[in-house]
Order: sequence, then structure tokens, then C-alpha cells
Amino acid sequence: MSGFNISFKDKCIVVTGGNRGIGYAFTRAVANAGANVAVIYRSAKDAEQVTQEVGKEFGVKTKAYKCDVSDTDLVNKTMKQIDSDFGGSVVGLIANAGVSVVKPALELSHDDFQKVYDVNVFGVFNTARAIAKHWIDTKKQGSIVVTSSMSSQIINQSALNTPLTQVFYNSSKAAVSNLVKGLASEWAPHGIRVNTVSPGYVNTDQTSHMDKKVRDHQANNIPLKRFAEPHEMTGQAVLLLSDHATYMTGQEYFVDGGQLIW
Ligand code: NDP
Repeated sequence: MSGFNISFKDKCIVVTGGNRGIGYAFTRAVANAGANVAVIYRSAKDAEQVTQEVGKEFGVKTKAYKCDVSDTDLVNKTMKQIDSDFGGSVVGLIANAGVSVVKPALELSHDDFQKVYDVNVFGVFNTARAIAKHWIDTKKQGSIVVTSSMSSQIINQSALNTPLTQVFYNSSKAAVSNLVKGLASEWAPHGIRVNTVSPGYVNTDQTSHMDKKVRDHQANNIPLKRFAEPHEMTGQAVLLLSDHATYMTGQEYFVDGGQLIW
């Protein structure tokens, strides 16, 4: 390691939800730093093509795997397949896949709860555990970065000064940010680091449903006065995966345009 160059050449990084939105930006960022990338997606028809194109653009090996992160058997099987396809070179995981249900609290059901927590909390645990178990069994070290959200800390107001009606999403992000600290603590003796990157508002499919009035109101509450683009989330994640972050673990890093200042 010299200077501040970051290179993942000949190493593989797994990105869940790496085919679109913030995850796609992560896929591109680690590929740009030389990593081979295994992308996990749920159902998108174009995921294989999108993943292949990143490989061609950056001259690295990329492969897409259809896998629901909440399905333990499938996650374990997929991680074994990735390990074999990439010759045991997996050094990092970005557990990024996430979903939301936007409804007033009085209308939420147990199914809604399961839909959100199965992906945002159990899905993160599932993928992190599968990879950590493999690293521990093979005496390898690695870094895990989890995408949480600034909503682990705050409840946003809509333009009408009413809550944004996603209590299961917000609470799942608080849960996963805490989960990261527990995993970091348990796996530190094995040389496995676990950290959280928590975005503020980012322009992706997840925020595309917001009407203009709400969006403008929210942007006005952000010191930098705008939503982020997905690529603006990547710097912190790439750093945490790299050898420049070997003393960083168990922390939540907010990339929110300064929103948590106010
Ligand atoms: P998108 O809705 O754009 O993309 C979600 C991604 O997750 C897709 O790739 C999707 O795959 C994948 N995914 C969803 N469920 C599963 C599952 N069960 N198994 C495997 N993959 C799954 O989300 P964003 O890019 O906006 O968000 C990415 C992360 O960042 C999420 O954790 C989100 O909560 C968080 N975040 C987003 C913010 C924002 O403003 N956008 C703000 C703060 C945090 P497929 O394409 O196949 O459906």
C-alpha cells in the first residue's frame, strides 16, 4: 500500500441490490477500483445485462446472482457459488438491498412488518453471516459495509408537517445500525470489520414516488439543499472496504448532506 491509492485488483466484492440505485453506484465504484464484483439481486429482468456491462466498462469480472437475501438456504448456496466462481477471492460485502412500505401506522399489517424487516434486518444478517462464517472457517479477514439510513436516527416530516409514514422502514434501519455494532463486536477477534454507511435522501427508485412539494420541502431541510446522486454514497464505502480502514469497525457513517446537523 502506498500513498492513498485504493485497489481491489484480483479481489472480489459482493454487492446486494447491486444492479440499480445506490447499489449499482457501489458496483461501479468498486469495479472502478479494480474489484471483480458479484451482484445479488431479487428479480430485475435486466440485472445480468447491467452487471455484465459494468464488467466490460472497467475490465473486471462481474456476475449477477438472483437471490432473495431473506432466504437463508439460498443465501448460503449463493455465497458458496460466488466463492467458487471467484476462486476464493471474496474480501468484502456491501449489504445494501433494502425495501420500504409507505403507509400510515394505523394501516400497517404483520405482513408489512415482515416484508420490511425480512430484507432490511434479517437479509443483512443472513448475507453477513454467510460470508463471515466462510471467512472464519478459512481463516481469512474481510470487511462488511451495510447500507442503513439517516432514518436510523430521525423521523422526517413531510411538507405538511406530518410524519413520512414509514415507521417500519425507519425502525428497521435503527435495528440494522445496532445489529452492525453487535456483529462488529463478535467478529473483531477474527479480523472481520463491520460498518454502516447511512445515506440521507438519494435520487433512486425508492425516492421517485415523492411528490414535488414533499421533495422540495425535504431538500430545503438539508444544509446542502439537495438530494444526493447515488455515486455520492460510494466514497465512504470504498474506503471502509479498503486497507486504509483497518482500524475502523462498528461505526455508522452518515452521508446526508449535513441533514443530521439540524
Ligand atoms: P432501490 O429501490 O433503488 O433498489 C433496491 C435494490 O435492492 C434492488 O437492487 C433490488 O433488487 C434489491 N432488493 C430488494 N429486495 C431484495 C431481496 N429480498 N433480495 C435481494 N435483493 C433485493 O433502493 P435504493 O438504491 O434507493 O436503496 C439502497 C439502500 O439504501 C437500501 O437499503 C435503502 O434502504 C437505503 N437508503 C436509500 C435512500 C434513498 O434515498 N434512496 C436513503 C437512505 C437509505 P431488484 O432490482 O431485483 O428488485
